[in-house]
Parts: sequence; C-alpha cells; structure tokens
Amino acid sequence: MDRVAFYDTKPYDKIWFDRLCGDYGIDIKYIEGRLCEDTAALANGCRAAVIFVNDKLDAKTAKALERNGVGCVALRCAGYNNVDLSGAAGLKLYRVPAYSPAAVAEHAMALLLTLNRKTHKAYNRTKEHNFSLKGLCGFDLNGKTAGVVGTGKVGQAFVRICRGFGMRVIAYDPYPSRIPGVEYMPLYDVCRQSDIISLHCPLTSDTHHMLDGRAFSMMRRGVYIINTSRGALIDSEELLDAIKDGKVGGAGLDVYEEEIDFFYEDVSDEVIDDDTLEMLLSQPNVLVTSHQAFLTKEALRAIAEDTLYNLRCFFDGTPSENEIKPGANAKA
Ligand code: NAD
Repeated sequence: MDRVAFYDTKPYDKIWFDRLCGDYGIDIKYIEGRLCEDTAALANGCRAAVIFVNDKLDAKTAKALERNGVGCVALRCAGYNNVDLSGAAGLKLYRVPAYSPAAVAEHAMALLLTLNRKTHKAYNRTKEHNFSLKGLCGFDLNGKTAGVVGTGKVGQAFVRICRGFGMRVIAYDPYPSRIPGVEYMPLYDVCRQSDIISLHCPLTSDTHHMLDGRAFSMMRRGVYIINTSRGALIDSEELLDAIKDGKVGGAGLDVYEEEIDFFYEDVSDEVIDDDTLEMLLSQPNVLVTSHQAFLTKEALRAIAEDTLYNLRCFFDGTPSENEIKPGANAKA
C-alpha cells in the first residue's frame, strides 16, 4: 500500500476515499489541519500529499514537503490558485479538473433563486407562523439578461440552466466557445447589459479583482452578482460600497477573498475579525455560503475517484491527463 497524507480532512471527505482507496492500493493518513510550512512534517512517511482549496502550497511549504520525502501533491479540487507553481516545481502536481460542473452551476442558480425569491426569509417566517409577504417580492428571471464570465465547464452548465429559465445569455471569455444562444462581448459590455452576473473563471493575476469599482460603476442599477468561483475575483470592499449604494441589488457569494480564516470551520463562538465580511453578512440582500457549491454526493465520489487515480499514476510512474504543468493550462 502506498501511504498518502490527506490534509484539511472533513467527515464528508472520508466517505468515498475510505470506500475506494483500497481499490487503488492507497493507504490514507487523515490530518485535520491545513497544509502549511509548519504542518508539512506531518506528511513524514508519505510519498504524496492530498490538499484542498484553502491549503497553501507556497515555495517554503513545497520545500518542507520535499524534505519529508513527498514527491507529489494531488489537489482534490479544480482551481489551483493556492499553489505557487514555480515554488512547487520540484513536486508532481495533479488536480481534479471536472468532478461535477453541474453541482457548481446548480448552486449558483440556487443562490440566485434564493436571493431573488427570498425563500430563506419565507422559510424562517412561516416556521414562526408569520405568513406576511411584506418584503418578499422578487422579479421574473424569464426574459432577463444573464452575464456569464468564464464559459468553461461550469460556465456552460450555468448557461444551460439560464437558457432553461428563458433568459438571454451574454458572456465574456478570452477563449470563447461555440455555445448556441450565447453572445460573447467584452467584459465591460457584459457589465453594462446584464441583470445578473455570474463568475465562472479561474483566479489568476489577470482576473484578480476583475469586478472592481470601475466594473460596478458600469453595471445596471440593481444588478445581482453571483460568485461560485474564487473570492478574490471581486474587490469585496467595492462590492460592499455598491450594495450600500443600491447599485448592486443582491449578492450571492459561495466564496470570499479572505475565506481561508473562516470557511469550513464553526467559528460561531468567536469574534469575526473581518469588518468587510461582517458588513456583507449583515446586509439583507447578501447570501453567503461557505464554499459549498461542489458539495453533492456525485461530486464527492468523482473527486475521490479522480484523486486516487492521479495518485496511482504518480506511484506507477504513468501519465495522468490531470497533471498540472506550469504554463500548460492557460485556460484552467
Ligand atoms: P474551466 O477551466 O472549465 O473554465 C474556466 C473558463 O474561464 C475557461 O473557459 C477560460 O477560458 C475562462 N477564463 C480564463 N481566463 C479568463 C478571464 N480573464 N476572464 C473570463 N474568463 C476567463 O473551469 P470550470 O471547471 O468551469 O471552473 C470554473 C471555476 O469554478 C474554477 O476556476 C474554480 O475556481 C471554481 N470552482 C468552484 C467550486 C466551488 O465549490 N465553489 C467548485 C469547482 C470549481
């Protein structure tokens, strides 16, 4: 059995990894803590490490892993903005590029529908026998314009859902695809014409704060913003200003640029030392979920299968199409 160190373990991670690891000849050492330079030593005795979105693989951590005999890091997620690719050049790196694009796209629509039709408020009200409709008015999605930023696997799944709702779909992507019913245009035109904007592109130096004060200033008054990709695509303080100003009518955020300190943990008995997050959470038209768009049974199984396959490829010295090669995945 080849032993691997599995960082940032949550109970739902274990369900499929435990069921399938034997089939791949892999023995898993589960570690609750996140990967960082200090926790790299916990991988001692393992030739590979498995990490998730908020584990940090910077140059120092990569070197610390290598000193402990680790030769490979398998990400059990699609995005790899948490990896310093040149700093980790001594390690083989893998990811799971597509475990369930539908899961993420469906969560994006769930955020939009909840925010718009206020079902979260209605749920609380009727539980308390308050059957008033005051403040619950939404708008028809049918006939509205959805602006999709990034039309890869998740973006295309979201396009299909929007089209099913009878929406006009416009999009921005520097690498456009041929998608029936989608009109591509520059990002700022998407900002100008959309009633809702949903982000589905990776976080890179080009996309960092792509929705900034200038982008918000161009948007329609009352626009809804949905982000299930990465928090730092949006300048959160500018978003807060746009919400207070009424420019943004609603924001559904599954990700937040400083989420690493809070998301996936129960910090309900602690003071949140992040005024922007607190202010966002306190707005009635902001809905935050804790980076859970991926969390479906189907996606968890696919994540386990593909991660174990990547690890097997590493141990056997065979190629995996999921290897992350610096510069090779410009679209990822
Ligand atoms: P993908 O690689 O299939 O598609 C990404 C698309 O973004 C590509 O079409 C690419 O051309 C485009 N793109 C690249 N640079 C861009 C730019 N500057 N502006 C606009 N578009 C640009 O990825 P995917 O599987 O569709 O996933 C999209 C993102 O969703 C991932 O990068 C990841 O950050 C996020 N994600 C989040 C969760 C979650 O649980 N919240 C789960 C999975 C993925």
